[in-house]
Amino acid sequence: AAKQRGKANWVRYTAGMEKPAQADAQLGGDLRRALDAGEFTLVYQPIVDLRDGRTIGVEALVRWLHPERGMVSPAEFIPAAERTGLIVPLGRWVLRETCRQVAAWAAEFGLEPLQKVGPNVSVRQLHDPDFVADVRAALADSGLPADRLVLELTESAVLRGHQVLKVLHELHDMGVRLALDDFGTGESSLSLLRAFPAAIVKLDKSFVDNIELGEEGSAAANARQAVARAVVQLADALGLDTVAEGIENQEQVDRLRKLGYTVGQGYHLGRPMDAAAMTARLAAQQRDLTAA
Ligand code: C2E
Ligand code: MG
Ligand code: MG
Ligand code: MG
Repeated sequence: AAKQRGKANWVRYTAGMEKPAQADAQLGGDLRRALDAGEFTLVYQPIVDLRDGRTIGVEALVRWLHPERGMVSPAEFIPAAERTGLIVPLGRWVLRETCRQVAAWAAEFGLEPLQKVGPNVSVRQLHDPDFVADVRAALADSGLPADRLVLELTESAVLRGHQVLKVLHELHDMGVRLALDDFGTGESSLSLLRAFPAAIVKLDKSFVDNIELGEEGSAAANARQAVARAVVQLADALGLDTVAEGIENQEQVDRLRKLGYTVGQGYHLGRPMDAAAMTARLAAQQRDLTAA
């Protein structure tokens, strides 16, 4: 039934109740059950060197394979998981599973294609007193070196809280890198960069969309291009790496390269895929490199 409901099997999750609090309580219960039942899975999207097309990392993205509703998008359940607190055990599972899978790939293919690997982390997880210990345990149990792990965080007022900054500095001191996700969409990107021990900024997709139409294109495209240029210059000046997100065609790759970007992510470079498909991609890349 879910298959007929639209492209790519996505369905809108509705708990079928009127009051948000009640709906949340039901969804929270469903999420707990789903976690115990093993209904969550990870897909991996390649992070690519724009100069030669090589995979140099992966972002882990969670999916919920609901037995009746089909594939549920994280946009549907992450906000509810955050409100109900379920994001803490779910995020812990995502972290452990990412480290386990990436360490297995590193053992097979080496660390070269796995320079930046990691999950998204909600601010709510950073408030969990066990978070740093969980990260340490996930690294120790998997054997993944700390300097491979990149935790993606979105800009948010909460990130500036004293307690959260302390956690971020502890992670930084362990060698774990932090990426500012969806960079440029928050309200305080610049001031945040000073307080926050970030290693990577991910230029938000909204600045990449239609960027290829700049110059002879619209004023809006020119403005996006100006932001993209400013972000990469700022990152260079601060010694941060950049990743351009949401690249959907070769013209965008060419334009971003002219602006100074060397690393990107997007459907044009590779869609999120299951672990088996990513294994095949890494194996093919290794064959090509040995053949060359
Ligand atoms: P994000 O971290 O910014 O992830 C990028 C999203 O953009 C992913 O959607 C990805 O599939 C999509 N995307 C990548 N390239 C393209 C492209 O070229 N075109 C278009 N149209 N989309 C592209 P996804 O997987 O649905 O994830 C949405 C958001 O949900 C993520 O945004 C992240 O904020 C959140 N999320 C996903 N997994 C987790 C998780 O395990 N924990 C937490 N806390 N949040 C997660
Ligand atoms: Mg992300
Ligand atoms: Mg992002
Ligand atoms: Mg995003």
